[in-house]
Amino acid sequence: MKLLSRKSLVAAAVVAAIVPLGAASAQNSTPATAGNPKFRALVFTKTAAFRHTDCISQGTAAIGQLGGREHFEVDATENANQFTDANLANYDVVIFLCTTGDVLNDSQQAAFERYIEAGHGYVGVHSASDTEYDWAWYGGLVGAYFRDHPGVAGVNQQFQIATINVEDTKSEATKRLPARWTREEEWYNFRTNPRDSVHVLMSMDESTYDPRGYSQPGGSPPMGDHPIAWCHPYDGGRAFYTALGHKGEYWNEPLFLEHVLGGIEMAAGRAPFRCDS
Ligand SMILES: [Zn+2]
Repeated sequence: MKLLSRKSLVAAAVVAAIVPLGAASAQNSTPATAGNPKFRALVFTKTAAFRHTDCISQGTAAIGQLGGREHFEVDATENANQFTDANLANYDVVIFLCTTGDVLNDSQQAAFERYIEAGHGYVGVHSASDTEYDWAWYGGLVGAYFRDHPGVAGVNQQFQIATINVEDTKSEATKRLPARWTREEEWYNFRTNPRDSVHVLMSMDESTYDPRGYSQPGGSPPMGDHPIAWCHPYDGGRAFYTALGHKGEYWNEPLFLEHVLGGIEMAAGRAPFRCDS
């Protein structure tokens, strides 16, 4: 380590003293504690369609708290202009948290493609799969696009308690979960089954709830084989997706938070990434 001059030490002390203030005014930014953070994450929450207000506010706060606990740095933004080569290079992983719709323009998309191709990480949470339908590269990155969810008038409820089969019990995102994990969620159905192109971490036991979705009168059909969280190497980078996380209160569930944390660490390259399909 380089020795600091007395003047540099004073400057460093001043910088350290103003970090909490800077973080507070920057909103949703978790400063690195003394020393280097393990890695840096950018939480991206822009919406151009449905807005999950609670997922975004409580999810951003929860990921910031995980960063404080686990010593990684978290910045959060709604601003797509942050998708430049120079800015993205500051981060090990970008987390699309409850994004929806067309959120990036062509040059921002190109910068993000280069970022993944350079070996970085992507995490998609919940409606990250309800995002950028016209950007085929992104569809490949997330693994499958959202189709619909339960909540069909006269048929079933939007929020149901159901059981997840944890298929990979060894990954960082699943190793603390019970093999059969029962909880409430707005359970997503997908347009395609991603199993052939991703490593499935968890799937739905459709016998434990009514999965019919709203996109067809009387309810769309069940998926049958129904992955709900997965990971895969993609175009040189690492991708992790979980469909969970709709309600703000879910971001207080210890097991759910461990699931998200593990996925972030995997995508950031800080936990084993055994995700070949
Ligand atoms: Zn939702």
